[in-house]
Amino acid sequence: MTSSAVKATIKSIQTLKVDPVVHPSLVVQGSSGTHDHSNFLIVKVILSSGIEGIGEVSGTLGWSGEDSGTAEHAIRTVLMPILIGQPISPVENLLSKVEIALAASPFTKAGVATALWDAYARSLDITMADALGGAIRTEVPIKFSLSGDKARIKHVYEAAIKMGFGAFKLKIGKDPVDDGDRFAYARQLVGKDTFLGTDANTGYRRSEARHAVSLMREHNPAFLEQPVAAGDLQGMHELKELGIPVVADESVFTLDNLVAVLRAEAADVISIYVGKSGGPSRAVEMGRIADAFGLDSVIGSNGECGVGAAAQLQVACAMPGLSMRFPSDIIGEYYYTAGIIETPLNSDGRVVHLPDAPGLGVVLKPELNAKFK
Ligand SMILES: [Mg+2]
Repeated sequence: MTSSAVKATIKSIQTLKVDPVVHPSLVVQGSSGTHDHSNFLIVKVILSSGIEGIGEVSGTLGWSGEDSGTAEHAIRTVLMPILIGQPISPVENLLSKVEIALAASPFTKAGVATALWDAYARSLDITMADALGGAIRTEVPIKFSLSGDKARIKHVYEAAIKMGFGAFKLKIGKDPVDDGDRFAYARQLVGKDTFLGTDANTGYRRSEARHAVSLMREHNPAFLEQPVAAGDLQGMHELKELGIPVVADESVFTLDNLVAVLRAEAADVISIYVGKSGGPSRAVEMGRIADAFGLDSVIGSNGECGVGAAAQLQVACAMPGLSMRFPSDIIGEYYYTAGIIETPLNSDGRVVHLPDAPGLGVVLKPELNAKFK
């Protein structure tokens, strides 16, 4: 029998669907679709001690086949029965039960895992980063996504500049010639010394990716994110040989995926999401493994709201090997017309700062608290 400073058990789990609308100025148009609203689920874990933890299922049907509807169904049908009544500590035991009860569904697991870690950390009056092993850093560099035609790129860039952003990536992956032209335009717009990468979201065949690189190279792309299909690790490896850092995003959901990318030497940088990896502790583990193999990590985004963004930040601060050279995608509530947390994360657009408060360090707006079921 182990002893723990946290004796509380899980009394109940509640959920709330949120459907935030992306600010019209900031809508992201990628090669796999347009993200103009979200259907996310906020998960609340209530302990016998009265302490509560929150998490966000930031899933989209196009990414992992998950949204607020699938997540709510999975949580009510299989996760509530195995979690309610269980001790909150050790959290890893609860995550093992979740892993057995529910196949795939990484963003759903991540929302639940975030709420469990939040409740645990709040019980100990420490930050989630501390609960995950300790804050290695307290600020994280961030960037903003540009997309669409030239008028759209300019519009979003100007909105992002007003918010203080100074690093960017351009969504590409539809047509190499048009992308080369748009990238040249974006480079001219942001200036030659500004950090500007690319994200093709798996949109190219290998030959198209090579063509796009040949057109963009003179304009100095900082990285090439997921140029080809998620499973085409040989293609990623060959593109990496062209000398522009390759970022693996869609190629890496699970630990198995990460090991495959490491074996194939398919990337220089891994884009780790709290959602893709199945939760905060899994994400930190993946960063640690990538770091052990000499790879950088960044925290990637699926348009998280305030709770999901807070989880990204806690993970980023606890993750060994998080890149300071390649900014992460912790944008959070900047995207949306209405936020869900009382006080947004403290960011000047260049970096985002870890809050001092326990757990995730954010609090839901009180009007939302009344709506959980
Ligand atoms: Mg990406």
